[in-house]
Amino acid sequence: MNNPIYNLISALGTFVTSIVTGAIRFYKRYIWFTLKNLSVYFINYNKKSFSSVKTFLVRAIVFILIVSVISGVAVIINTKSTKVDATKVVLDGDTIGYIKTADSAEKIEKSTLKKLNTKKDYEIEFKNAKTEPYNILSDDALSDLLVQKIAPDYIKVCEVYIDDRLICAVENQLTAHSVINELLEAEKKKNKKASVSFAETISYKYAYYKSSDENIWNKDRLSLALKTFELLTPQHVECETKIASVPFDTVDIETNTLFIGDSRVRRKGKKGSEYVIDLVTYIDKKKVLSQNLTSIEIKAPISQVIEKGMRAESISMGGYTVTQTSGYFCWPVVGLHTVTSPFGWRSLGNHRGIDISGANASGSLVVAGASGVVTEAGWSTGGYGNYVMIDHGNGVETLYAHMLNDSLMVSVGDHVTKGYAIGRVGNTGYSFGAHLHFEVRINGTRVNPAWYIGLE
Ligand SMILES: [Zn+2]
Repeated sequence: MNNPIYNLISALGTFVTSIVTGAIRFYKRYIWFTLKNLSVYFINYNKKSFSSVKTFLVRAIVFILIVSVISGVAVIINTKSTKVDATKVVLDGDTIGYIKTADSAEKIEKSTLKKLNTKKDYEIEFKNAKTEPYNILSDDALSDLLVQKIAPDYIKVCEVYIDDRLICAVENQLTAHSVINELLEAEKKKNKKASVSFAETISYKYAYYKSSDENIWNKDRLSLALKTFELLTPQHVECETKIASVPFDTVDIETNTLFIGDSRVRRKGKKGSEYVIDLVTYIDKKKVLSQNLTSIEIKAPISQVIEKGMRAESISMGGYTVTQTSGYFCWPVVGLHTVTSPFGWRSLGNHRGIDISGANASGSLVVAGASGVVTEAGWSTGGYGNYVMIDHGNGVETLYAHMLNDSLMVSVGDHVTKGYAIGRVGNTGYSFGAHLHFEVRINGTRVNPAWYIGLE
C-alpha cells in the first residue's frame, strides 16, 4: 500500500493506541480508587470524594483534547507535505490529468499525435500545479487519455511481432500470449522429456488503431494464421548424456643416459574417460546446437612420459675422438674447449667468428664441422694465415684460420666427412697466440657460430 492517507491513518492508529494503553495503565489504580470513592460519594455525599471525581473527569477531558489536537495537527502537516510540483494537462478546457513536467507532457502529446497520424485540432495547455504524487500519471496512461479525447474512434491494441515482422494487432498481450501458449503446450505433449520453446523471437508493442481496423485480429484468427503459415518453429532442448574418452598429455624429461636426438617412452599414456552431459537443441528433429553442461570424470588419463637424450655424442675417427654438439656442427677442434673471443664487436674491431683455444693449443687437430667439399685451402693475404673453407651445401660454409705452417691436410675439391681432420691449430696470419678462428657463413653472411655448435 503506497497511499499516504492510508499510511497516515495506520500510523495515527498505532500512536493513539499506544497513548491509550499507557493512559489506562496509568489510571488503572486511580480508576479503581475513584470507583471506590464514587460509591462512598453516593452513599455519604462526601465532598472530598466529589472533588476527586471532578479531578479525574477534568484530567480525562484534557487528555482527550490533547490527543485530538495532536491528531488534527498531524493530519494537516501530513496532507500539506505530500503535495508535489506537477504539470496539469488541460485539453479543450477539460483537465486530463497530471504529469511530472511540462517537457514530458509535451513530448507525450507529440508522440501520441504522431502515432494517430492525425492533425492537431484541439487546444492543449500545460499548467504548473501541485498534486498528490499518486495523482501523477504514467506516460502511457497520459497517452491513452489523450487518445480517448482526441480520437475517440481509436483503441489501444497490442501488435504482435515475430522476429521483428509485424503479424497483426490483438486486443491485448494476454490474447496473443494465450494463443502462443496453446501452441507451445501442444508441442510439449509431443516430447515430454524436452524443454520446448519457439526458435523465433516474439515481441509485443502497444499502438493505437482505429477500432474498425481489419488488422485487429481475434484469438481464433491469430491461432489459425500461426498454424496455417507455420510462423513459429518449435525447438526442443534435451539433455543428452554419453561417455567420452579423455586424451592423455605428454611429459618430456631430460636424461643423460641417451644421446642428443634420441628419445624413448618411459611410461605409456592411457586415455581416461568421462561422463558428458550436453544440452542439445533440435529444430525439426535436426540438431542445431550442442552445449556442454558438465563433464564428470570417470577415469583420469595417465600422462605419457618421454625421456629425451641430453648426452653429447662422440665420433671416434680412429686416432682421435670428436665431440658432437647439440648444434648442426661437431666441435671443430680436438681437445680445446675454451672460447677465448666470441662473435661480435670487440676492441680490435668486429669479430666475424669465434676463437677457440686452451692449454697446449698449438698443434691440436682442426676437424670439419660437417661433411662437405673443400673450396679454399692455403695462405690468406687477408690475415687468416693458413686457412681452409668448406662448402656444406644449401648455402652453408665454414672457415678455419691461423693453422700451423705445413699442417693443412686437405686441398681444394676434397670431399670431407664430419670430424675429418683438415689441419692443426697454429698462430699464423693476424693472430696473437695459438688458436682456431672458426667462422660459419649462411648464403655468404657471417653468422654467430655459437648457434651451430651447441653454445647458445
Ligand atoms: Zn678470430
